[in-house]
Amino acid sequence: MGAVRTVLRTKVGIVGGGPAGLMLSHLLAGAGIENIVVEKRDHETIRTTQRAGILEHGSVRMLTEGGVSNRVLSEGHRHDGIDLRFGGESHRIDFQDLVGESVWLYPQNEVFADLSAARERDGGDVRYAVSGTEIVDLESNTPKIRFTDAAGNDCEIHCELLVGADGSQGICRRSIPAGIRSEKFIEYPFAWFGILTQAPASAPELIYANSDRGFALISQRNDSIQRMYFQADPSENPDDWSEERIWEELQLRVDGPDGFELKQGPIFEKTLLKFRSYVCEPMRYGNLFLAGDAGHTVPPTGAKGLNLALADVRVLFEAIDSYYSTKSADLLDGYSDRALARVWRAQNFSYWMTSMLHTRPDASEFERRRTLGELEGVVASRHGSAYLAEAYTGWPAGA
Ligand SMILES: Cc1cc2nc3c(=O)[nH]c(=O)nc-3n(C[C@H](O)[C@H](O)[C@H](O)COP(=O)(O)OP(=O)(O)OC[C@H]3O[C@@H](n4cnc5c(N)ncnc54)[C@H](O)[C@@H]3O)c2cc1C
Repeated sequence: MGAVRTVLRTKVGIVGGGPAGLMLSHLLAGAGIENIVVEKRDHETIRTTQRAGILEHGSVRMLTEGGVSNRVLSEGHRHDGIDLRFGGESHRIDFQDLVGESVWLYPQNEVFADLSAARERDGGDVRYAVSGTEIVDLESNTPKIRFTDAAGNDCEIHCELLVGADGSQGICRRSIPAGIRSEKFIEYPFAWFGILTQAPASAPELIYANSDRGFALISQRNDSIQRMYFQADPSENPDDWSEERIWEELQLRVDGPDGFELKQGPIFEKTLLKFRSYVCEPMRYGNLFLAGDAGHTVPPTGAKGLNLALADVRVLFEAIDSYYSTKSADLLDGYSDRALARVWRAQNFSYWMTSMLHTRPDASEFERRRTLGELEGVVASRHGSAYLAEAYTGWPAGA
């Protein structure tokens, strides 16, 4: 006989307590649909891990109007545009003027802090620091999540619907049989070398810089901490880079006749972020539904990853809510197609921003000049700029 497991019963079992898992849990609880989240990392690790930082207006509304927290409005920073910088000159894409929308600079770990506090405030059942997660019986009416909790107890959740919100390295999508799961992806021949520095902001909004030496992103975190990235070879070892060398490289990528200078400070985190474009289709198998990075990842250039995860959740919540309130499975059946429509739009935008702003290591002189022509076309055309502004700030829900 196997070890005795504690059996827990709920309607929706959720694997992963990132933004997708916790936001879904919050929305379901608000609609009276009981759910349990299991998360393998501990609370402190997630709260202190730096990842995404830009929220679309629709994501902000999910946090504020959805009753999570208004902290994004009081502590985040509204950005009404970005700078595209190339040929040593900055060109502002004015979101408000072009599409009447904005984005908010608000780090992902603050989103997590708000969501986890809201789950705690509302009596949510979120189990952190679990291990050995397995999912079984996905085709049945009682799919199950097995795990060992933080205290070492073996547990099994019997649920009606199971949501895989376990990120890009998770187990859930791999549970879809190979003959049904179709994985589409591309790799990029570059990575992002990222730093966090204790320094004042170099600019009020994000700067996306294209240069002969490659791409750089000058971003912010708050008044005293800044986030910057530069395109690097995926094999680089961040430990080989001194602070002096990093600042020199970053400055070279934004140099121009306007004399723009980065505000430097001590660097306290160096990372190498490898990325790819990836989609798993379909995002549903039996009673398993994928949401967020579990189903797709995008390169970070378009700031879409976190926002796309929340957009999936909006669609999935509507489907689950409709299922329990009307007993009709129509929206559940349509979930994968509906979510994937936005995913592929965001894939295209993220791919476009990435290829337009980066310099491929093997780029010919023709390719280099063509890319500059593309950037010039975007900033010179109100329609081109408006496409960028609309996609960056976020398409309307359902689009
Ligand atoms: C280093 C890094 C930097 C990034 N920077 C940016 C950026 O600048 N801009 C941007 O838009 N996006 C960025 N992203 C992407 C963005 O962070 C993700 O799109 C976003 O976190 C997706 O949310 P999610 O809830 O779907 O997945 P996640 O946030 O990955 O959450 C999934 C959760 O599931 C948990 N989990 C995994 N496996 C199991 C298991 N077996 N059992 C239980 N729990 C499990 C994980 O611990 C994790 O907490 C970055 C990602 C990384 C990794």
